[in-house]
Amino acid sequence: MERREVAAVLAYIGRLDPRTIRTDAGEARDQIAQWYELLSDVPFTTDHHWDVRDAIRAHILDSPYPILPADVARRWRRYRRDRLHRHTDPTPVANPDDPVAWRTELLGTRHAVAAGTLAPSTHRQITSGGPSPDVEARLRAIGSCIPPAVRTELARYRPSRAVREAAVAQGHPDPLSVRCPWCQAGEGEPCRSRRIGLDGHARGNAPRVTPHPTRADLAGAAQARKETA
Ligand SMILES: [Zn+2]
Repeated sequence: MERREVAAVLAYIGRLDPRTIRTDAGEARDQIAQWYELLSDVPFTTDHHWDVRDAIRAHILDSPYPILPADVARRWRRYRRDRLHRHTDPTPVANPDDPVAWRTELLGTRHAVAAGTLAPSTHRQITSGGPSPDVEARLRAIGSCIPPAVRTELARYRPSRAVREAAVAQGHPDPLSVRCPWCQAGEGEPCRSRRIGLDGHARGNAPRVTPHPTRADLAGAAQARKETA
């Protein structure tokens, strides 16, 4: 608090508890100096539920004794402790390979929470923050979380996916983007070959590497429609 804020605080206290009023000009000045010395690091208000007047009102309602600077400081420390208790450090935006910047950001956030300028972050933000900005830029460039080299390696283990990606890469329509009218495979699912046994029941239900031709035609028509629209 600034000196004039301390003076305002003392005037406020005087209105609620006249015992604290100093009528002598010298005594009043000393009182302001004493309170300022002890409470210079306690803010008057913050944006997050701290107002020194609330602390004063609470004390006067709680206690029969005239309020002392220590009573205000104690409530401020309790407020700080409570906020830090609820705060879990969010992952810094700084590059983790730069430990100095990482630590500075972590401590800066903690200090801001303690000083009441920032709301505590009450749970780890791993689920809400999304990837860090540079990861996001890289993802946009590659287009996938899987690097191209690994994708090529994986191709033989997921043939239908590889066919699909090859088609899209060559600018052909993606057959899996539409429902298959032949085998009823849903969007994004590979076609399945159903073999019907002599008794009329399905015998096999294996996924096909290449989609049914009708599905490819349908996807082509859908893409042509989209291009002309
Ligand atoms: Zn099909």
